[in-house]
Amino acid sequence: MSVILYRPQMQIPGHIDPVPVPRAITPREDGRVDLLGLSRDQIRAELEAKGLEPKQAKLRAKQLFHWLYHRGETDFERMTDLAKPMRGWMAERFIVGRPQVVEAQVSSDGTRKWLLRSDDGQDYEMVFIPDADRGTLCVASQVGCTRNCRFCHTGTMRLVRNLTPGEIVGQVMLARDALGEWPKGSMAGGADDEDEDDDAPQYSTDGRMLTNIVMMGMGEPLYNFDNVRDALKVVMDGDGLSLSRRRITLSTSGVVPMMARAGAEIGVNLAVSLHAVTKEVRDEIVPINRKFGIEELLAACAAYPGANNARRITFEYVMLKDKNDSDEDARELVRLIRKYKLPAKVNLIPFNPWPGAPYECSSPERIRRFSSLIFEAGISAPVRTPRGRDIMAACGQLKSAAEKKSRAELDRLAEEKQAALG
Ligand code: SAH
Ligand code: SF4
Repeated sequence: MSVILYRPQMQIPGHIDPVPVPRAITPREDGRVDLLGLSRDQIRAELEAKGLEPKQAKLRAKQLFHWLYHRGETDFERMTDLAKPMRGWMAERFIVGRPQVVEAQVSSDGTRKWLLRSDDGQDYEMVFIPDADRGTLCVASQVGCTRNCRFCHTGTMRLVRNLTPGEIVGQVMLARDALGEWPKGSMAGGADDEDEDDDAPQYSTDGRMLTNIVMMGMGEPLYNFDNVRDALKVVMDGDGLSLSRRRITLSTSGVVPMMARAGAEIGVNLAVSLHAVTKEVRDEIVPINRKFGIEELLAACAAYPGANNARRITFEYVMLKDKNDSDEDARELVRLIRKYKLPAKVNLIPFNPWPGAPYECSSPERIRRFSSLIFEAGISAPVRTPRGRDIMAACGQLKSAAEKKSRAELDRLAEEKQAALG
């Protein structure tokens, strides 16, 4: 198993992008470079670094980008618009990887959960939630989470590390693999398809199950801003996975200083884990509130670029018995939303239990009453149906076995690995 804990910051060669770019490529024992998660420019730079002329590199990068992210191809031999010798040249120097799947589970309600393992042996999870009219992939941004929200299982994981763009994009690629959703057959007017099966269905983007992405899995995405941004840019690219930013939602516990940049540089829908309307309660259950308070957070929401009545900000509100679920709480929530003139909807999330959790879920009657008080004020406040509880895949239940390895153990493995690589 390869183990690299610290990825060096390295300048990507080439004249187009002289700014140092964090290099999110895991060195491999065989010396080949994994292209998964790289942008078109990064692929081009890698090709140049291996000796291709700039013009060639640019053209090949465009082709590779399409094969990787539009077609989901991992085998260079099948990239039929590359000349045969070029395919071999690529295969000697590069691979197109996928996260390693340790376990896949399916809930009685159809929700699926995958336990994935990184190259350095840390585990993270992704969840797919099928609905009648959409299919939502819940993507992790970190292994674990540093935030320690008191009602969230992920916040109790000891080990935390940022996921790389490859590991983030990799989740989407893997879901497409698992759901069998890459276009098959030839593309109209496309490549030389000598190797293609003539009976294969023609390319069609219709009828796919994976339609939406939520950055609501493990981790606080705005604590891993650069990698989340770079990954989502690849996911949104029209020549690749081509998911619309309107179908992507990023959820934050309230990292106020990064919210404006998230709006400007990523531009996806925003969800905010509000969960409480008083300083006392939010300080307790969402500790980041001690740093960035409710008023500051709502002001940042009001300034979020692109928020309007057609693209409202979602406020997530977990229903905790006798903690944040009174009529006064509901009225205060309405008052705050009005005060900041927020184009908002509220998602009421029944608390999902986990072993040893210090809270209970509010009663169904209480949740209904809370919801109707907000609805009466003209603000949408649906109650979310918990999904995948039986496989511990519901909101806040994700916690992998990663922490079974101690920090010291991982450091030792990393040192051994570094020594082995020389
Ligand atoms: N870290 C980000 C995104 C991930 S969590 C964030 O906090 O926004 C997705 C949502 O599930 C968040 O609103 C989170 O607060 C909520 N959540 C966490 N634990 C939960 C639990 N046990 N029951 C219900 N919702 C929970
Ligand atoms: Fe982290 Fe979000 Fe869980 Fe809080 S709710 S601990 S920010 S994953």
